[in-house]
Amino acid sequence: MEHDTQDAGSDRFRHNCYLLGCAPNAARRDSRSRRNGTAILAAAREAGLQVKYVINTHGHADHIAANRAVLEATGARLVAHKLEAPLLGDPKGNLSFLVGLQITSPSPDLLVQQGDTLDIGVLHWQVLHTPGHTPGGISLYCASERVLFTGDALFREGIGRTDSPGGDYDLLRKSIADRLFTLPDETVVYPATARRPALATKSSTTPGFADARDSR
Ligand SMILES: [Zn+2]
Repeated sequence: MEHDTQDAGSDRFRHNCYLLGCAPNAARRDSRSRRNGTAILAAAREAGLQVKYVINTHGHADHIAANRAVLEATGARLVAHKLEAPLLGDPKGNLSFLVGLQITSPSPDLLVQQGDTLDIGVLHWQVLHTPGHTPGGISLYCASERVLFTGDALFREGIGRTDSPGGDYDLLRKSIADRLFTLPDETVVYPATARRPALATKSSTTPGFADARDSR
């Protein structure tokens, strides 16, 4: 598996996205990037990767802003949880209105739910429904690589915010306890906003982590 962390930010949305590759196929997730998607497209081109999926871990604007540009340039399929689809076309739902923008995304081509699998080359990615930050938030886990992408459900040293519409702290805590902290200890976690992977998340003493861990 190849993966590349892109600082594909704009003035407003300066975050990571991840380009996952299993040559000759590739997938990209977390389109936290400038809206024209140039950094993501350049990274894929440079790596010689064909973008197969654009996977939104959830529908907030800073994760979907480049969807349209990347989809149009690559012909990739857009993937999101069925409960998250309404946010993609709604600037209020995806919170872009809060910063004076009207960001919308095309509708998903593929709606996923807990238990689904996405194949990228020879790698199989399990879809884990991890609601709480938003109702349709998902994480992606590859058992053979022991790698987990969590979007905004789990950060490097904390859990996701739950103070925006649809957020639910108890639900997020349960998602993390039941579906993330039950994964093998050696799992390497790639949160959406960390610049480096998080390791050994279960041992963190951060309050949100401890709550989730202790509720198992
Ligand atoms: Zn978010």
